[in-house]
Amino acid sequence: MDLKILWMYHDLMDLYGDKGNAEVLRGRGQKRNLNVQLDTCTLGQQVNIDDYDLFFMGGGADKEQNLIYEDLLSRKDNIKEAMDHKTAFLLICGGYQLFGQYYKDQDGGMIKGLGFFDYYTEASDRDHRCIGNIAVETTIDGKTFKAVGFENHGGQTKNVRTPFAKVLSGHGNMYKSEYEGFLTDQVLATYMHGPLLPKNPQIADAIIKRALRKRYGEVELAPLDDTLEDKAREVMLKRLKCD
Ligand code: GLN
Repeated sequence: MDLKILWMYHDLMDLYGDKGNAEVLRGRGQKRNLNVQLDTCTLGQQVNIDDYDLFFMGGGADKEQNLIYEDLLSRKDNIKEAMDHKTAFLLICGGYQLFGQYYKDQDGGMIKGLGFFDYYTEASDRDHRCIGNIAVETTIDGKTFKAVGFENHGGQTKNVRTPFAKVLSGHGNMYKSEYEGFLTDQVLATYMHGPLLPKNPQIADAIIKRALRKRYGEVELAPLDDTLEDKAREVMLKRLKCD
């Protein structure tokens, strides 16, 4: 089976190790003997997003978001086509924000989003920036488990109808908010860097399964030995008193 991953704006949207997510997807795919193709695409490059099973975009500060958003908006029809054809999406922080209605920065500057979802994001004042380690509890594909990451965002994301997780420690979508991220059958959008996937292999596999669904339907993934990954996550859960 093929697993075709498109990593958008790899050179601009990459904070706190987000690139590690791409490595984990490739590594866990290869361990299942999937034929993994990991391609990158940046400003001005031609690509047909609908050729891919998974669209991955990392986080970026306001500066990078300003640099890329027009290019991203110019691809809106192609992204919609990919969505309609069941491409999976993994969007981190700045990438998460740009799939909503808009991002309004601290000085009132507006960055238009793709508008696929109802949520919108407005920057907090400096005293209410959401920074630090975060622990959450999520239910994906019927399984409930804890996940950890690191967040650093001024953006407060509101009107999220289907959050990804419940916050156990940290902030999430807003300063001291109860919920984190956005989740549908196809899209996982989150403020969690760290990067997200190395310490949370259950999330990595849920994303791979969503991606494979596009061409192969429901696929069972063989279990892997996640002893080290689990230990790394447990250290952080313990530190945050969420174990
Ligand atoms: N510029 C956005 C914010 O501060 C995104 C930051 C990020 O991707 N970490 O809210």
